[in-house]
Amino acid sequence: MTQETLSGSMSTKDSDHSSYSDDLPRIVVLGAGPAGLSASWKLLKGGIKPVIIERSPFAGGLMRGIQHGDFTVDFGRKEIYNRTPEVTAFWEELLRDDFIEYTHRIGLLYQNHLIDYSPEFRGPLRGIPVSLLGSCLAGFLKARLSSLKAAPPKNYEERWYQSWGKPLSMMASQGFSEKFYGVPWKDRPVEFDLRRHDKHKGSKSVGQHLKALQSQIFGNPDANRTWRHPRRSTQQLVDNAVEEIQKLGGIFHFETAVTSLTKGDNGISEVTVKRGDETQVLKVKELVSTIPMLALADLLGLDKISDPIADRNEGRESFFLYLFLNRPALFPQAWLNVSSPDLALGRVVNYGAFGGDMVPEGKGCVCLELFTRKGEGFADRDNDDIAAQLIEEAEGASLINASDIIDRKIIRIAGAEASNEFQTWQDEKVQGLLREFRTYSNLYDANRAGIDVACFAGICAADAVLTGNRERFDREASPELSPQWASSAANTPQP
Ligand SMILES: Cc1cc2nc3c(=O)[nH]c(=O)nc-3n(C[C@H](O)[C@H](O)[C@H](O)COP(=O)(O)OP(=O)(O)OC[C@H]3O[C@@H](n4cnc5c(N)ncnc54)[C@H](O)[C@@H]3O)c2cc1C
Repeated sequence: MTQETLSGSMSTKDSDHSSYSDDLPRIVVLGAGPAGLSASWKLLKGGIKPVIIERSPFAGGLMRGIQHGDFTVDFGRKEIYNRTPEVTAFWEELLRDDFIEYTHRIGLLYQNHLIDYSPEFRGPLRGIPVSLLGSCLAGFLKARLSSLKAAPPKNYEERWYQSWGKPLSMMASQGFSEKFYGVPWKDRPVEFDLRRHDKHKGSKSVGQHLKALQSQIFGNPDANRTWRHPRRSTQQLVDNAVEEIQKLGGIFHFETAVTSLTKGDNGISEVTVKRGDETQVLKVKELVSTIPMLALADLLGLDKISDPIADRNEGRESFFLYLFLNRPALFPQAWLNVSSPDLALGRVVNYGAFGGDMVPEGKGCVCLELFTRKGEGFADRDNDDIAAQLIEEAEGASLINASDIIDRKIIRIAGAEASNEFQTWQDEKVQGLLREFRTYSNLYDANRAGIDVACFAGICAADAVLTGNRERFDREASPELSPQWASSAANTPQP
């Protein structure tokens, strides 16, 4: 049995640690997650060699994979969204034949029932038992009738209950959503899930309303998309990107952290980095930062912002229990959102259902994800205790047999980064930070929620550096403003 904190299970070749004694201003990329890798790749393709600074001993950021014996799996649940052709082309170039299609069968676990998001597998009822369907329909009709004379909703919970009724809201979303985001629905603003430019669009017709329900709960039926995944996990994207960057002459500085940024007359003038006991100061020409926005604000000496939307991580933890099985998991879905409020389990991933080679033939691997809420009492519990509870819950829901477990691995990290979404960027306080960032003409803040969104921001930042024109970066790579993300977001079932 192995237990470890999130450390690079797959190391990436370290490169040059030479100093920058020539004192020339550099193009610096901070961070080697998806945004940093795509920015570096694009810069190198355009003939610029950036200095890539990464605090960890390996690349990949939150996109990296987990290796365990013959298993190579993603870190938690990873969907690869194909919302921008430019990013998809980048991945196709990196993965070639290893970017494989899979049956995108995903669903919900509610009151021990497995419910598919798509009607493709078990018809329009998607596995919802008749008794539950009856209570959902009754609740829905009651809500529609009551809404004729109801006062406008005061919070997100009221909005859902008024629109769809309580039973349907609970089954489809509430339990999972509250665990994932760590915020009870009654404490969320009414329009929490709407993008800025979707708000105040006026009332919907009944037809639009029903279409919205279907899209909200089961994904957009018009989205005739295929789903693809790297054959050997997202780590394959990372490994191939690193290899390509090094081939093009890019240099990674691993285990090197940025510790401060110096402001000059025209933006950021210097970056101070630390590797072990050694501190170096780099002169900066352009700076692509992919480190979390609040960490960047800190380095710039901006006022700390504290609110639950801007910092979903405060007081929270994410716990990933990988179970390696001597046969496939007992359920067919690639992942399940757990909306039962009585279970601690938040999400369950079944890597064998992604096809590919993440799991050896005949074996199985699931990841039981738990996103703790502030003050919930998990912080003081030890790993074995939490793991035992999660295994009991998964076995109780017939997802696995505990007797099939051959090994396990626990990753426990502070915060709940997985739940970071576009809402973060449309928060008023965050908007204030973004305005501050934009006063630095040579700073491109490209850290984003979503692997594709991060890659797109990295590519746009590199384009801006290459062309000397940052207009596209400022306009299109802003997830809180750009219509392209909004129109495609409905393709993904949003909690
Ligand atoms: C469990 C989980 C599930 C997810 N599921 C999905 C999904 O299904 N689909 C999807 O699209 N996205 C998903 N995401 C989100 C996605 O992984 C991130 O949005 C994406 O990795 C962000 O990319 P980034 O390059 O902007 O930042 P990161 O991936 O966070 O990379 C930033 C890098 O900067 C480095 N760094 C930080 N501080 C410093 C410093 N001071 N000096 C030097 N280096 C520093 C970090 O070590 C890191 O390598 C998930 C995330 C998690 C955690």
